[in-house]
Amino acid sequence: VLTATGAFVYFSQKDLYPGEQLDQDPKKKTVVVLGNGWGSTSFLKSLDNEEYNVVVVSPRNYFLFSPLLPSVTVGTLEARSIIQPTRYITRHKKRKCAVYEAEATDIDPVKKTVTFRDASETNDTHKEVTIPYDYLVYGVGAENQTFGIKGVKEHGCFLKELKDADRIRRKLLDCLETASFTGQSEEEINRLMHMVVVGGGPTGVEYAGELHDFLIDDLRKWYPEIADKLRITLIEALPNVLPAFSKQLIEYTESTFRSNKIDVMTRTAVKDVGEKSVIVQDANKNTHEIPYGLLVWATGNTARELSRKLMGKLPEQQTNRRGITTDEHLRVAGAPEIFALGDAVAGQYAPTAQVASQQGTWLARTLVKMAQAEKLKEELNQLRATNADPADVERVVKKLNRAADVPSFTYSHQGSLAYIGSEKAIADLPFFNGSFSSGGVATMLFWRSAYISSLYSLRNRTLVMADWAKVKLFGRDVSR
Ligand code: NAD
Repeated sequence: VLTATGAFVYFSQKDLYPGEQLDQDPKKKTVVVLGNGWGSTSFLKSLDNEEYNVVVVSPRNYFLFSPLLPSVTVGTLEARSIIQPTRYITRHKKRKCAVYEAEATDIDPVKKTVTFRDASETNDTHKEVTIPYDYLVYGVGAENQTFGIKGVKEHGCFLKELKDADRIRRKLLDCLETASFTGQSEEEINRLMHMVVVGGGPTGVEYAGELHDFLIDDLRKWYPEIADKLRITLIEALPNVLPAFSKQLIEYTESTFRSNKIDVMTRTAVKDVGEKSVIVQDANKNTHEIPYGLLVWATGNTARELSRKLMGKLPEQQTNRRGITTDEHLRVAGAPEIFALGDAVAGQYAPTAQVASQQGTWLARTLVKMAQAEKLKEELNQLRATNADPADVERVVKKLNRAADVPSFTYSHQGSLAYIGSEKAIADLPFFNGSFSSGGVATMLFWRSAYISSLYSLRNRTLVMADWAKVKLFGRDVSR
C-alpha cells in the first residue's frame, strides 16, 4: 500500500493473530539470549524454537527501532511509536519463551552460566539469579564512547536509548522556555539558544537535521521572539562529516547544512565539557571556549563493562580492547557455546543495525541446523545399534552431512541511508558492481519507505505514519 505520507507499507496476518504455543521442555537445550536490540531481536524473530527452550534477558522489556530515535528528540515521532514489547515477539513463537527484564552481571564461560539482576526501578532488593545455558546469544550492544573526556557524562546528552531522547527533548524545551523568560541578558539568551552536537557520524548528522526541521517548522510559530537566535553547531574531529559515505554525499550533506545555517566545524575536537560551555581544539592546536544550551554527544561506541568482564576471563583469546572477538561462525573465541553479534563484537563489520540483524537471522538458521544435526546423530546411532538396512543408514548420513555443513556468516551490504533535514535524505546503495549515491526529497521518500518496511509490526508502522501525518497537519507538540 502506498500511503498518504509517501511510504510503502505491507500488512501481515501474523501480526494480528499469534497461534497456540508449546510448553518449555526440560529435555531440550536452553538458549539464553542477552539483549533485545537489533541482533538479539532479529535472532528471536527468525528462530524456529521448537527444539529449544529460550530465555531472554534484557534491562528493557522492548525493542527500540533506533534509526528513528533522532525524530523523537524534537517530537516528530512519539516514543511509543518506535518501540515494540519483546513479549510481542515471544508470543508469536512456537514454544513459550521466558522473558526477564534484568541486567546480566556475569557470565561463567566454563560452568556455562549467566547471572542477572532484576532491573526494577521500584523493587530495590534487586534479586540476582544464576541460570545455566547450553548456548548463549550475546547481543548486549555497546555503550557510548566518551574517550574519558571530563564532564561528558554529567553535562552531555547521549542518543542511544529512549530515555536519552526524552532527556534531550526536555532539555531543548527547557532552553527555549528559559531563553523566553523575562529579563534575560542577551549573552545568556545566545548561550541557551546554541545547540551543539559533537560527532559528525550518522547519529550527529541526523540529530542536527531533525533539530533544523524543528526550527523551521515550529520554533518560529511557537517562540517567534527568540526563534532567530537559535544556532546549531556540529563539531567533528575529522576533516569531514560522514566518513563512511561517498565523497559526493559528504559534499551534498555539508552544502545542505550550510544552506540550513547549521555551522559545521570540522578538524575540531572537543577536549573538555563544562556545565555551560565546551573547550575545543582546532586544526592549528588553538583552543576556544564555546558556550552552549544543549550538548548532544554522538562520538560512537565502546565495549560495555559486561563485555570487558567476559573478555577478562578469556585473556588469551580476547585481546581486542574494542570488543568481543568471534570466529566466522560468530562463536566467541575461547567460549564456543557463546555466539556474539551486533555492536558487542569488534570485527570487520561496522556497528550497524543492518549487520546485527543479518547476524541474528543467520544465527537463528544455524541453531535450527545444529538441532537437526543432533537429532540425525541420535537417529543414526539407533539405526547402527539395531543393525538397520545400510541404505537407511546411508540416507541418514547424507542428511546429517547436509545439516552439519554450516556456511560461515557473510554480510550483504544493502546500502546506507541517513536523514539530513529539510525533507532530504542521502543514500549510498550498492548497484551492480559499483555504487549509486542519491540525495534529496525523492531519497527522503525512499528513506521513509525503507524504514517503515523494516519496522517490525503493523502497530508500529501505523503509529509512525500517523505521527508523520500529525506533524504535517498540526506541527510538533512543544509541551515538556
Ligand atoms: P561514529 O563512530 O560513526 O561517528 C562519531 C564521530 O565522532 C567520528 O566521526 C569521530 O571522528 C567524531 N569524534 C570523536 N570524538 C570527538 C571529539 N572529541 N570531538 C569531535 N568529534 C569527535 O558514531 P555514530 O554516528 O554514533 O554511529 C555509530 C555507528 O552506527 C556507525 O557504524 C554508524 O554507521 C551507525 N549508524 C548508522 C546510521 C545510518 O546509517 N543512518 C545512523 C546512526 C548510526
